Amino acid sequence: MAGTAIITGSSRGIGAAIAKRLAKDGYNIIINDVSQEIIDTAGKEVAEECRAFGVKAECYAADVSDYAQCEGLVKWAKEEFGSIDVLINNAGITRDGLMAQMSEEIYDLVIRVNQKSVFNMTKLVGKVMIRQRSGRIVNLASVAGLYGNPGQMNYSASKGAIIAMTKTTAKELGSRGITCNAVAPGFIQTPMTDKLTEEQRNAMLAQIAMKRYGQPEEIAGVVSFLCSPDSSYVTGQIIEISGGLSM
Ligand code: NAP
Repeated sequence: MAGTAIITGSSRGIGAAIAKRLAKDGYNIIINDVSQEIIDTAGKEVAEECRAFGVKAECYAADVSDYAQCEGLVKWAKEEFGSIDVLINNAGITRDGLMAQMSEEIYDLVIRVNQKSVFNMTKLVGKVMIRQRSGRIVNLASVAGLYGNPGQMNYSASKGAIIAMTKTTAKELGSRGITCNAVAPGFIQTPMTDKLTEEQRNAMLAQIAMKRYGQPEEIAGVVSFLCSPDSSYVTGQIIEISGGLSM
């Protein structure tokens, strides 16, 4: 059931791993990142690795928190690739700090990038998928959205909202042959978590049943399943991938 997949924020980290895994599965790949400079360097390298699987792979710089830029991305994708069969809402940022010290600007920024981007892309790509009467949407939530996390009022709010948006999308689009699910990663080794202090990492590790951090490829494998024929009757679900963090 391959076709074309858009992965937002995919020049590095989990997004890059998902892009490469879906390329291996036979999907043509659209790599997105907010920065043209990063697209021209890291993004192009990811595209090259995707092409090694014999698929088409192109890059497009757009800030997915900006609706007009998402319109540009989706219009280009339709013209360049014909169909859009998979949407992975992966782009995300952290700006951590205790609530008492968190500025309104930093709160709003994280909500806009992590949460509003999901509305922007799902609305625009959803229209294309409705016309096609098929599609797969996978959102990147987080254990912070399921359980909350001190120092992440903004981030956990955005990820909790993504969980609700996943269920709403599944209910709105299910009758059109479109599934929408979310994965909720725990602690995955990427540039995002490289920013944490040794103390924060050790505290996290102590709570993980498997006593190790996850790798981006371990998220990509579950996303691949959610985009495969094997998951055709799975929708509105939140799959935690955390090595047993929450038990
Ligand atoms: P990452 O390494 O920081 O990569 C995030 C990607 O998103 C980067 O390519 C970044 O671009 C891009 N991006 C940021 N803002 C964007 C925007 N406005 N428009 C388009 N692209 C944008 O993060 P990651 O760890 O791979 O995380 C990927 C997703 O998984 C995020 O949604 C994150 O919240 C979620 N997640 C991660 C973990 C974890 O432990 N790593 C745990 C739970 C959930 P630049 O390169 O230009 O900054």
